[in-house]
Order: sequence, then structure tokens, then C-alpha cells
Amino acid sequence: MKANIHPDFTETKFTCSCGAEFIAGSTIKDQDFRVEICSNCHPFYTGQQKLVDSTGRVEKFREKMERAKKAQEKAEKNVELVDEKKKTKTVKKAKK
Ligand SMILES: [Zn+2]
Repeated sequence: MKANIHPDFTETKFTCSCGAEFIAGSTIKDQDFRVEICSNCHPFYTGQQKLVDSTGRVEKFREKMERAKKAQEKAEKNVELVDEKKKTKTVKKAKK
């Protein structure tokens, strides 16, 4: 290791907003560092859906997906109807 270019690697106490504390090595100069989420409270680890969604973005996204799904279903129905019309037309033509 080259001298005088590496930051100090020390033990830092991390405190999560859920209350959990853990010590990990880091180059952060503060001895105490606050984090918003950790493996004790992250939904990936807890398996529970918990969202901090103050602006309603998630709700808007769900609404958008619902509308897109309905539009797609409608479009698929229309395609089926057009196909049936084509079939009846071709059948009629074939009879002539
Ligand atoms: Zn946490």
C-alpha cells in the first residue's frame, strides 16, 4: 500500500431509523452514521411490503398499470371481433 493516500478504515456504528444498530468497517470519519434502511427492516428481508410513499407515486403507478391492462384487454377483444368479421366475409365470398 502506498503511504498517505488511503483513507482510514475504522469501525463505524451504523444506526438505522428502525432502531437497529450494527458495527461495520468503513472509511466514514464520523464514528456514528445514520441510515434509513437496513437488512432488519428492508422489505426484501422481511418479506412484508412496507413503503414510504408520501407523494402517492406507487398508487399512481398501480392505477397506470390497471388502465394499461384494461386497454390491452379491450384491444385484444377488438382484434378477435375483427378476425371474426373477416372470417364471415371470407366465408360469404367463398360461397359465391
Ligand atoms: Zn432498519
